[in-house]
Amino acid sequence: MSSPAPSTDIAAVPFLDLASPHAEIADEVNAGWAEVLARTAFVGGPQIKAFEAEYAAWSGVGHVVGLGNGTDAIELALRALGVVPGDEVILPANTFIATAEAVARSGATPVLVDADLDTALIDVEAAAAAVTDRTKAVIPVHLYGQTAAVEKLRALLPEGVAILEDAAQSQGAKRNGVSAGKLGDIAGTSFYPGKNLGAYGDAGAVLTDRDDLAAAVGLLRDHGSPRKYEHAVLGFNSRLDTIQAVVLSAKLKRLDGWNANRRAAADRYAALLAGVDGVVAPTVLEGNEPVWHLYVVRVRERDRVLKELQTNRVGASIHYPTPVHRTEAFANLGQGEGTFPVSEQLGAEIISLPMFPSITPEQQERVVSVLADAVK
Ligand SMILES: *Cc1c(COP(=O)(O)O)cnc(C)c1O
Repeated sequence: MSSPAPSTDIAAVPFLDLASPHAEIADEVNAGWAEVLARTAFVGGPQIKAFEAEYAAWSGVGHVVGLGNGTDAIELALRALGVVPGDEVILPANTFIATAEAVARSGATPVLVDADLDTALIDVEAAAAAVTDRTKAVIPVHLYGQTAAVEKLRALLPEGVAILEDAAQSQGAKRNGVSAGKLGDIAGTSFYPGKNLGAYGDAGAVLTDRDDLAAAVGLLRDHGSPRKYEHAVLGFNSRLDTIQAVVLSAKLKRLDGWNANRRAAADRYAALLAGVDGVVAPTVLEGNEPVWHLYVVRVRERDRVLKELQTNRVGASIHYPTPVHRTEAFANLGQGEGTFPVSEQLGAEIISLPMFPSITPEQQERVVSVLADAVK
């Protein structure tokens, strides 16, 4: 059944809005950048340390180490944990490819496990069952802005297996009152522009309470160099840019408010979707305070529904259509269709609806009305 042509007087609902948050911080960013430019101090400087301290305090962790991007954050965290080729690292098949890339780049063998259908988060029992005597770490991914049940995972894991949180989508999320990034041994996060705390380009960080891990990542990010001309370990170039630190400090001051707006928007979606048959709204894990990086629903005939949304100028996206084991990049794992049925089902059924702090009730009503028509 085809829908009537969209009327042109109905405004498009964007998937994401990066302009409004910029408008709020533009003056602060311009002033901060002017200072960086005046001193031509583009790498390092007090802005980096300031942001790291602010973000550590906000997250309640001992250390934040600013990095070039979130994928590096996960890789460097693995290396700080002592992961070497031959080790195994367990991660969910339903995640952004970066989690798996970081594992493979560290030299470890990625060991995928399935997801929980209701939350799309890692199946912690499956993760525990995948442990061997080569397992060095497990990476629970705090997908869509809610945290995995890290304490349950901890209780199921043998001692000596580290927990590395992929907190790229969960800045400000809490589990039983504790911030994402403080639930495991170490965490990697990303400040890619579209994340809840987004830079104006690539950026990322490692969070940890452990002094030794923070020091190791601090070395790795800067050519393994503790002091000029000294190179203690084989390192990388993955520093946080000074101009990005300026942006991140300005945004961090507003992040609690923006996350609260996302929560209100998620509540509104839940209320609007309650009366719609054929759309499965997201489930929040008991004990979680999500920050709704994405608002992901499940529908049948997803590709057709997605097209209807797009035709009606409602921004929508898929996170992610292809589980890691079904990507070409990880074909070497040799895991065919049916290996992780829940992740594959999610890949076929999920749609991410527009979600950003400034989304209006009218925009959300429009999204749900188009969606409701599409699933009829
Ligand atoms: C964004 C993201 C990353 C990687 O971050 P980059 O900064 O793009 O390298 C890793 N994991 C998840 C779940 C992400 O969403």
